[in-house]
Amino acid sequence: MGAPVLAATTLANTRTGRKIVIGALLLFALATGLVLTPLIAIPLAAVRAAASAPGAATTTTAAPAASGAWGYPLAGAYSKGRGFGYNPVSGCSYCSTDHQGYDMAQGCGATVYAAGPGRVITAGNYQGYGNTVRIDHGNDTVTLYGHMLWDSLRVAVGEEITAGTPLGAEGNTGRSFGCHLHFELRKSGTPAPPEPFMAALGLPLK
Ligand SMILES: [Zn+2]
Repeated sequence: MGAPVLAATTLANTRTGRKIVIGALLLFALATGLVLTPLIAIPLAAVRAAASAPGAATTTTAAPAASGAWGYPLAGAYSKGRGFGYNPVSGCSYCSTDHQGYDMAQGCGATVYAAGPGRVITAGNYQGYGNTVRIDHGNDTVTLYGHMLWDSLRVAVGEEITAGTPLGAEGNTGRSFGCHLHFELRKSGTPAPPEPFMAALGLPLK
């Protein structure tokens, strides 16, 4: 480094030399900028991508696994809660004993998706289910998504939606005992077990 610095200093002592030094510095700065810009830009892009990545509460995660026109109401791995049928919750006096749906959980704020295509017939507080969406799929088949976070609903009554449409966020509203999704199936108005129904669609529940 000694010789170039000395040469630059010597050059800088003359008017023409100063111009040469300044020109060289400008060239150096330009070259550095051209080389470094992509290196700086890539990490920034990576940071932006990470900021919008799945995991943050109430953001849309990857689309759930699907089979035909239907899919799971949660994307990815989930914990199984109560299944359909007689299933009291210990320590919860207000919880139903005869469970009319299938409970599954990813955590408070996880996105809940429509399991099948249809028309939204409920979007809001519903009986003991708290913040709820119900979808009429035709053929006397309705699915219900209960206990979602207040103010998290992304669909409105009357909307025609497809499977995988984000409905809202997993929560603990209504007669609920911890954040979970209560996924319910009704055939001609009567609750039916979701497990065989989903399995027949190629979407077995745990
Ligand atoms: Zn339930």
